[in-house]
This record gives sequence, C-alpha cells and structure tokens, in this order.
Amino acid sequence: MAAIPKRKNQTAKDRAKDAATTALRRLVIPRPDILHTYLEYKQINQYLEYLAQRYPHFVYVHILGHTHEKREVRALEINWMNSENVELSPQMREHAPRLFDIAPNGRFTVPVIHLGEHCRKTVFIEAGTHAREWISISTALNCIYQLTERYTRNIEVLRKLRFIIVPLVNPDGYEYSRTKNPKWRKNRRPHKSTKFVGTDCNRNYDIFWNSGPSKINRNTYKGESPFSEPETRAMRSILDRMSTNLLFFLSLHSYGQSIMYPWGYCRDNPLYWRELSSLANSGKSAIKSYNGREYRTGSISCLTKRTIAGSVVDYVYGVLKVPMALVMELPSRELGFQPPVEMISQIGHESWYGIREMCKRSYDLRNQIARENDPPLPRPARYEATNEGVAIANTSTSTVEATAAGGDCAKTTSKKKRSKRTVRAQHENTVRLQRSFKARESQDLPEGIQALPPGLFPRQMEPRYPPIKRSGLSRDGQGGGDGAILTSRGKPNISSQMPLVFP
Ligand SMILES: [Zn+2]
Repeated sequence: MAAIPKRKNQTAKDRAKDAATTALRRLVIPRPDILHTYLEYKQINQYLEYLAQRYPHFVYVHILGHTHEKREVRALEINWMNSENVELSPQMREHAPRLFDIAPNGRFTVPVIHLGEHCRKTVFIEAGTHAREWISISTALNCIYQLTERYTRNIEVLRKLRFIIVPLVNPDGYEYSRTKNPKWRKNRRPHKSTKFVGTDCNRNYDIFWNSGPSKINRNTYKGESPFSEPETRAMRSILDRMSTNLLFFLSLHSYGQSIMYPWGYCRDNPLYWRELSSLANSGKSAIKSYNGREYRTGSISCLTKRTIAGSVVDYVYGVLKVPMALVMELPSRELGFQPPVEMISQIGHESWYGIREMCKRSYDLRNQIARENDPPLPRPARYEATNEGVAIANTSTSTVEATAAGGDCAKTTSKKKRSKRTVRAQHENTVRLQRSFKARESQDLPEGIQALPPGLFPRQMEPRYPPIKRSGLSRDGQGGGDGAILTSRGKPNISSQMPLVFP
C-alpha cells in the first residue's frame, strides 16, 4: 500500500490547503470494492485512508495498537458535528467540538472526549474479533460506507451521533483465515513453551474472566490473563478512555442470525433488559420489513444456551457501564461464516437497516437508562458452567460437526438437523421475498423504507472468489483441497456443516 504522509497535527483546513497545493504530487488512494469482495487487511486500511482523504472534514483514522504480527488495529471516527466540518453553518461550527485530540504519549490521535451532561452520543461498532467471521468485517465496512460515501442518506443519525467503527479487531487471525485456514477463529500470538497458537479475543476481557473452564488447545481459549492479548489491549485503550461518551456499543459476529444483550457470563437478566430487548427488537423489525429475514432476540446466555465469560459486550456493559450494548450475529447458519461474495452487499445493506434503526432507538432511549441504579453485578454460576462443560464434552465426542469446530456446540445432532432445516426454509423464504421485492415498484415498499437506487440492491453477479493462496493448507486443514471456498453452486461447503457457534 502506498505510504500516506503523517497528518498528526494538521487541521482539516490545513489538509484541504495541502490538497490544493500538492494535488498533482499527492498519491491518489484507489477505492477498494468493499461491496463485492472480501478485502485483504491492506485493502481495508486502504479504504479507511481513502475515506479520510476524501472526507477530511468529518472522517478520521485512529491507530489503537499493534498486533503480535505488527499489524495495526484501526478505528475510523465519523463525526459530522465537529468544528472543522465545512458543510455545517458557521454558528453550528462554533459550538461543535474539535475532530480529534492527541494522545498523552503524543504519538497517536485519539477521539475527543466530550464533557458535560449530554455527552453520551457515541456509537461504537466493532467486528472481526473472530478471524473466520469474514462477513462481520464486510458488514462493518458497509456501515462505514453508508455513513461516509452515502452520508446524505444517513444524515439524520450523523447529526445526532458520533460513530467509532473498528472493522477488524483481529487482523492477524483474519489474514491467517483468508490465506491458510478459513476455520481459524483466534488471534495468532503463540503461547510460550507450547505448540499452541492463539487466544479467543472475545473471552479475554476482564469481566469474571476466570469463571468457567478454558483449555489452551480449544477454539475458545481465554488466554493467560485478562487483556493478555494485544488486540484486546488495543480495544481497551479506546473503550476505557471513551466510556463516558459511549451510548450504544455493538459487536458484530456471525452466523447465529440473532441480536443479543447481556449477560453472557451468567443467566440473570440485567436491570434494564427491557430497554435492551426493545433496542434489539427495533433492529429485528427493521430487517424483517426490509427483506423478510427473521432475526432472533434475547440474552446471550439464553440464546446460545451456555454462559460465556470475558466477552467484550459484557465488559462494556458491566464494567464500563455503557447504557446499551448488544451483539449482532449476522446470517446465517445456512450461509456460514463466509457467505458467497454475491451475498456481501445484500447482507451489508439489510444489516445496515437494522443497525441504523438501533442507533436511532438508542438515541431515543438515552434518557431512560440510568446505570447508577444498577445492583451489583450478579455472580457467575460456576456450577452451571461445570454442568455445561460436561454436556459440551459429551456432545463433541459424539458428533463429527462439533469436533470440527472445536467442540463448542452443546446441541444434539437431531436438534441441529432440525434447526438447519428451519434456517434453510427461512433463507429460501428470504430469497423468494427479495425476488418479489425487486420486481415490485418502489411505491409498494413498506412504510418508512426507501427503495435503494439501482445498483445497490443485491446484484446478480458472477461469483467472484475471495483471494486465497492455493499453496496453503486445504480448508479442512487435512491437505488435499485446493483452497477454494465455494462449491460450484455458490454455497459454502464446510461452514454450513458447522454447529451454531456462540459470539
Ligand atoms: Zn464470533
């Protein structure tokens, strides 16, 4: 990727001036096609740089930290209401805050912390914690695309909320998943004096981290200590700093097709579970009216039928006391972690409808939640975790599918088959609905839903395969494969056999 000149202490005005005088010498950053391919790590960075250069008056890239393999964890800030936004009126600009601050170490830029009563106006979205969940990364990039390149369409949320989006929390794992082993879930930091590599970053946050069993060879290994991983430390650096400004935190995963609220670590419901449930349901209804896809909503422990300690969403909700925090598991079991590339824009767009609706709803709910009234955090039920552990172990030895994905599915095979059929029927229903939807004129659209202009609704494109190095391991990790991700019918041939995996 072309090196971009450092712009640390520059204002947007300086950058605009700079652009005018050095236009010819300046490197033009190409715009990667985020809607129709799974991008590489470098292309994702390139896209973020492209946007920061194209919209310097409201878009900014922050570097949160570096991974074990020296890749950057980056956040994109999209902050419409800032003093450098030339598209705002002079009066509004005068009262708006700056676009960024310099970190105490002087090396990085950081988002400005707002003080005062109405300072909770930031929505935080993160994705790509689990390496193989490629669609979550594409969907986060679609959120970025909607809020920048399509900002006029989303100006309503931009006027109310600031967005911080981390589209790829675990770049090392993602690159490994893309080039070597598509089923890889963890990060890539090796564990000293063992042959094992990687920690599940979504078990590494400091909230009852030590409850429940965790083995180094498993897909859900929680690490040596809370925040032992560079990726989770990078996230902590921004989350802890911004906690007083965060209104709504959203963690994107796949492929449970569900929107879930805390707790993950215990089976209790938080005090404000009704508000969280209403928030999740607003997203669910928006997606249903967009194309008929049915999401499930509920608490993490309830929907996944197990308890999960050390997840980011519990940390943000339980430790940082952010008013609203959800996990969204994208579609679908049938499509797997890496749906065919022709599904990327469709899942991205339908999810954006849901996410945008939840952002609006979180804004409406902002005065109804006062977390200082919260009772002390409930204790995790260790005995439940132990029972669950036994159930998991029994199932994983009895079914091939469970072993293939690291043995973290507690459902029985027959239940799995049943649920697979239901999801397949649901998916076929969605596809049917989309066809009829497409055929209709825009006046038939449900109230409040705008028709997308041509070219943005799912295109029937020739399937394009994600860039995979053919010299690497086969996708089943046992050799002999050619590394191709999709079957000739454009369906993922492995992921659909995988058990439902929790966030
Ligand atoms: Zn996940």
